[in-house]
Amino acid sequence: MGEVERLLTANAAYAAARANVADPRPSRRLAVLTCMDARIDVFAALGLHLGEAHVLRNTGGRVTDDVLRSLALSSHVLGVDTLVVMQHTKCGLAGVTDRELQDRTGADLGFFPIEDHAASLREDIELLTTKPYLEPVKVVAGLVYDVESGELTDVVRWERRP
Ligand SMILES: [Zn+2]
Repeated sequence: MGEVERLLTANAAYAAARANVADPRPSRRLAVLTCMDARIDVFAALGLHLGEAHVLRNTGGRVTDDVLRSLALSSHVLGVDTLVVMQHTKCGLAGVTDRELQDRTGADLGFFPIEDHAASLREDIELLTTKPYLEPVKVVAGLVYDVESGELTDVVRWERRP
């Protein structure tokens, strides 16, 4: 069976057993940005359930223009007021340079490599908290997930002053 067929077969069982959530607004008013890394089960690691949070994923879990586009809607249209930016240990974006990734992929793109988790989380949180259109966001946390132990480290915290 090919990979797509495996997905379709699994879906038939899922659809039969699934709980429906009618409201598109995340019930915990939460959005989580994290890496696409296959070792991170975001819902399980954070104790989240269907309908509770937006989950945005890209390489590194970095704040890109596309993440900002999504969060503008999350916060203004769908009621999100708390953001979690979750990087992780053993990330493929750590310890490499844009130049190395450009050479390796042949893609002339900015890859947002991570030199230091705390520094890049601070950088990303600065980007999020200085966008005037993300004014509905009240709390941002920067965490690092350990892919070996499953533990989280609470690295940076920001709260909007009233
Ligand atoms: Zn990663």
